[in-house]
Amino acid sequence: MIEKRTPIPVPEAQRRVMAYSRKGDIERVPITEADGRVLAEAIYADHDIPPFDRSPLDGFAVQSKDTAGATSETPVYLEVTETVGAGEVAQPVTKPGQAVRVMTGTMMPEGCDAICMFELTKEVTRNGAAMIEITRPFKEGDFVSFKGEETKKGDPLVEAGADITPGVKALLATFGYPEVPVYRRPVVGIFATGTELLEVDEPMEPGKIRNSNAYMVASQLKKAGAEPRYFGKLADDFDACYDAVTKAVGEVDALITTGGVSVGDFDYLPAIYDKLGANVLFNKIAMRPGSVTTVAELDGMPLFGLSGNPSACFVGFELYARPWLRTWQGASRPYLVQTKAVLGQDFPKANPFTRLIRSDARFNGEGRLTTRPAGFDKSSAVTSLAHTNTLTLLPGGTRGYRAGDEVDVLLLNEPGSEPVKLPEKTRP
Ligand code: AMP
Ligand code: MG
Repeated sequence: MIEKRTPIPVPEAQRRVMAYSRKGDIERVPITEADGRVLAEAIYADHDIPPFDRSPLDGFAVQSKDTAGATSETPVYLEVTETVGAGEVAQPVTKPGQAVRVMTGTMMPEGCDAICMFELTKEVTRNGAAMIEITRPFKEGDFVSFKGEETKKGDPLVEAGADITPGVKALLATFGYPEVPVYRRPVVGIFATGTELLEVDEPMEPGKIRNSNAYMVASQLKKAGAEPRYFGKLADDFDACYDAVTKAVGEVDALITTGGVSVGDFDYLPAIYDKLGANVLFNKIAMRPGSVTTVAELDGMPLFGLSGNPSACFVGFELYARPWLRTWQGASRPYLVQTKAVLGQDFPKANPFTRLIRSDARFNGEGRLTTRPAGFDKSSAVTSLAHTNTLTLLPGGTRGYRAGDEVDVLLLNEPGSEPVKLPEKTRP
């Protein structure tokens, strides 16, 4: 007898999975390996920035009192004692009437208290000596970039849970973190089930298809920051599948299987969860594709039973496995970005289940996203996945949708790229 399954809405399914989410352990990785990880501890400034008073420009370090009363009619002439580049330390300036030629980033020479940029001076020779002519007064501190003006030692700068972006990397380097505390990547086992499956290097045979899911899921895992461990494909044989799954759960932080979760004669995953004593969180979702997506939990470890149909498998991963995996890695916002787009095509037929159309969304001329199916739209489709950058969310109901309707999309990639445009009449 076929067991009755009760479909639950997508958000409820996400909630049930995320009720078992937790963060992984913290590890330290070299700064060069920290890209795309999440900071496990806040970053504090271990010194002031700037660490010393410095010149923000190429110019002359002067003593402001020397420039008092300078005008173009009554210029002041200063002797240039030396030229100092960034990273070098000037000799102290001790006598009135002296200045130092400095470059951007040079530490303020002792005795000087203002910077006069090149553009405001004229270099002249007077009595055989190199001098500068100054035609305006400078106040103490003029154009100096002060120690600690940007941040002070001890200031908290980035919170734990932040993505390690290139900007965060710059701070890690600035404050001397050769090793970065991050959350460990989850190790995720993959099994592809199905007697019909051939591996990528096997020739086609009657009745068989190549196993695309294992490679696709491994790639989705990597993109989500997880570490895939592919255990191979399994024929539809209860004992073989049960043994393989039992062994695998001891070696991973989460397990993904594809196929075998439906109600066919050889769909053994439900019976496997049962024999394992796993707690099935749901086995039917009011969504297409992937209504048979099943998630179970075994002592807190999620077992993601994704559909064998490639499109359904893809969507099931993004909606349920990804947020769990991102949370493990410390991400505070683990879900796909949901935003609005204009539907580029009619979907006249009503559907009782929420649809997630694998879509190719592009920005139109007005900066709005227009979304269209990425290709063949059945749950068995594999070809359209190659052109999918968004999932268009069409809530189930009694009516269809029309081109031009505003709909929601979940972003998988950054869609599109255009050169920078400035509004007309902008000053350059
Ligand atoms: P199942 O969920 O096992 O009923 O499989 C549903 C459909 O997906 C069947 O047509 C399978 O042949 C196909 N399928 C199952 N596993 C894979 C896989 N790893 N790669 C590609 N297609 C698959
Ligand atoms: Mg199968």
